[in-house]
Formats: sequence, C-alpha cells, structure tokens
Amino acid sequence: MSERPKSRARAEIRTLLERARRVLIVAHVEPDGDAIGATLGLAWALRRRGVSCTLACAHPVPDSLRFLPGSEAFAPRWRTDEDAIVVLDTSDTQRIGEIYRDERGGVPLVVIDHHVTNLRFGDVNWVEARASTCELVLDLVGDLGVPLDVEIAACLLTGVVTDTRGFRTRNTHAATLAAAMTLMDAGASLGDIMDAVFRSRSITTLRLWGVALERLQHEDGIAWLEVSQDDLRRAGAPPSAADGLSNLLSEVREVDVAVVLREVRANVVDVSMRSTPRVDVAAVALSLGGGGHRQASGCLLKLPLPEARERVLDALRRAVA
Ligand code: 5GP
Ligand code: MN
Repeated sequence: MSERPKSRARAEIRTLLERARRVLIVAHVEPDGDAIGATLGLAWALRRRGVSCTLACAHPVPDSLRFLPGSEAFAPRWRTDEDAIVVLDTSDTQRIGEIYRDERGGVPLVVIDHHVTNLRFGDVNWVEARASTCELVLDLVGDLGVPLDVEIAACLLTGVVTDTRGFRTRNTHAATLAAAMTLMDAGASLGDIMDAVFRSRSITTLRLWGVALERLQHEDGIAWLEVSQDDLRRAGAPPSAADGLSNLLSEVREVDVAVVLREVRANVVDVSMRSTPRVDVAAVALSLGGGGHRQASGCLLKLPLPEARERVLDALRRAVA
C-alpha cells in the first residue's frame, strides 16, 4: 500500500512532540471511546519516549472505558507549565468544557481531530476525515518511531471500534480495517474490547429507554424522543444512560433522521442526531453551535426542553426538505 501524503500540520506536530519533555493531553467533555482511546494511546506512546504526560478531561471516564490502562489518571485540569497541549477528538473549545482557558502563556495548542466540523482552534491543526481520531494517533505514533505495544494498541483499537460502532458506520473504509488489523497484530484483543464497550448497559438503563421509547414521535422520516431530568430521577439513572438511544432509532427502517433530546440539567439540553447518507446532520449541528459527522452529530442547547425540541426540528425539517 502506498503511503498517504503527509500533511504539513502532521509533520509540524511530529517535530513539536519530538522536542517536548512534558505534554498535557486533553479529551472532550462526556468522553467516549475515541476521545479516551486517543488520549491514552498518545500518552503511552510519548511515555515510551520518556515524555511526561498529564491527562485532562472535564468529566469522568465512563465505567465502560475504565478497563483501559491509565484511564484512572484523568482529572479536570488545565496546565500551562508544559511544552505542548494536545487536544484530541474535539471540534471546538466548548467541547473541552469548563477546564478550558484561553490563556496558555505561549504553550502551543495542538489539535488532532477527525470531525469535518472542526473549527481549527489550535496553533497547529491536523484535521482529517477518518473513521476515528485513534487512526490519526496511530499514524502519529508511527511518525514518532514508537513501536506499537499492547497498551497503545488496546487504547487505539477501542476508539476505532467505538466510533465505528463495531465497524458498522459508513465511514468505515478498508484503511479503517487495516488500522484495526495492525492494532490486533500488536496484541490488542478485539473480543475483550467489544465486550467491554458494547456489553455495558444496565437494567436501569433499559427501563429508562422503555419510558422514553413509549413516547417516540415520528413525522416524515424524522423520529425523536426526549429524556427529561424527571425521567432520569424516576429511573435512578445518570444522563449518560441515554447514550445509544439515537443509534437504536437509526436502526429503524422508516427513520431518515433520529434525534434524542436529553435534559442534562435545568434548561440545558444535549442533542444527539443520526441520519441516513441522504441527510447531513453535521451541518445541522454546526448551525446550532455543535458539530460532528455527516451521519452522527450533536450539540448542546441552553434552552428549556420544548424550545430545544422546536429549534432542532425546525433545522431538521429544512435539512430534510
Ligand atoms: P453523540 O450523538 O454520540 O453524542 O455524538 C455524535 C457525534 O457528534 C460525535 O462525533 C460528537 O463528537 C459530536 N457531538 C456531539 N455533541 C456535540 C456538541 O455538543 N458539540 C460538538 N461540536 N460536537 C458534538
Ligand atoms: Mn471521534
């Protein structure tokens, strides 16, 4: 296979990280397998080169990702006594969450991301549309000349697996499978990762889904449902229990666009969207201050639930028309 042309940003990041002794590596809010896998994978690779790495995330690592080596080291922090700050899988500064500070005393901010909606908020931005950010990190690890080991491989394969929903999304290409093969050859167990990330729901979660699905709405190919603070309280479930509901709706034949609106706190609604290739929900999310991929995107609206619903449905009806 011929080598892909190296982007200038990728080369700059390599040089920067070759010289760094201390690096802060940052994952996005409500971190998923790709964010945690990419940050940990890069940290393990840099540590093999003797670099001291600190991991940051505004929110805790979900239970289903705690099996990853080093995942206990994340903390909600922002440090500027570093040689570089690397932000992974994050398309805008709002996604870094409340730990983000504009002020960083001249420390270069490096952004590595696979979202087409990335706002290029770093000093160096390597944005490339792959199925996962972990594939970009895999390339970077190769650029840095670090041999893959089982820790690096397990972290990176987790991101490939979760962001492709088990190799099912349309952006799963031959190169994605090749990356997965490379990581398995390096010792990562696909079976262990699949079990850890996809066999992770609780009965409480399923009961919450039952309540929400009872109220499913559907109109001209758009299906939506809502999870309120009240629903969560009654089910005794955290907001993260609604993760996966939009994927479930996207498996329904009649559905072109699936939307799940989840009230994370009073007047703050997290919106998760899925679509068929015909509809670009990344553009819809971007217009609402969020981002994502053509067929999977999201945003955070500071509105009461009914207003958030109308705002999203308005934008979607126009996108579908
Ligand atoms: P999910 O629906 O699984 O939470 O997210 C789907 C995709 O949309 C992910 O790629 C995620 O990064 C992106 N996304 C979800 N919520 C937001 C958001 O509030 N802001 C931005 N920029 N992207 C989001
Ligand atoms: Mn991702």
